[in-house]
Amino acid sequence: MAFSLLADLEVSSILDLTPEWFQNNGIRLMLLDFDNTVVAYTVSEPSPEFLRWLKQLRAIGVDVMIVSNSRKSRRVPDFCEKWGIPYVKRAGKPSTRGIKRAMAQFDAGPEETALAGDQIFTDILSGNRAGITSILVHPILFSNPFQVVRFGIEQPFIRLARRKRSRNMERSTCNYDDHTVK
Ligand SMILES: [Mg+2]
Repeated sequence: MAFSLLADLEVSSILDLTPEWFQNNGIRLMLLDFDNTVVAYTVSEPSPEFLRWLKQLRAIGVDVMIVSNSRKSRRVPDFCEKWGIPYVKRAGKPSTRGIKRAMAQFDAGPEETALAGDQIFTDILSGNRAGITSILVHPILFSNPFQVVRFGIEQPFIRLARRKRSRNMERSTCNYDDHTVK
């Protein structure tokens, strides 16, 4: 599958992904990175807004699963078991191993699956390699200088992806116009 560091979509937060977005794009399996995507590194409880979002997705038949690289042995399991969220821990992103395991568990194809995460070199790369929809979210909170440096290194890829998406949008708008003229 494609080696690409460019996200298919960029949102401020996973909460910006509306039920309509899932329905319009045929996504029924939502894979989530954990740290700085669902909660900040220093937080172990979900926000009420996240729980509300989770409930909305479940109501329309979207399965949500955490696919995390976290090395802390109980952090992800404790969170997921408490809130009834299936998970893959030590997923080894950018390997596609964890993603494939998740898709097999829910019998979902790549066109029905998306992964959202805050890191280009793990989350976005693994999503693109697996051929699923890759979604970049803004990190919830920088908790150490290393994360700030990495965020700086990611910027060229974030800008390139934005340019690519706007070109694609222009192209699809042109096609649409062509079509309506005929
Ligand atoms: Mg993360």
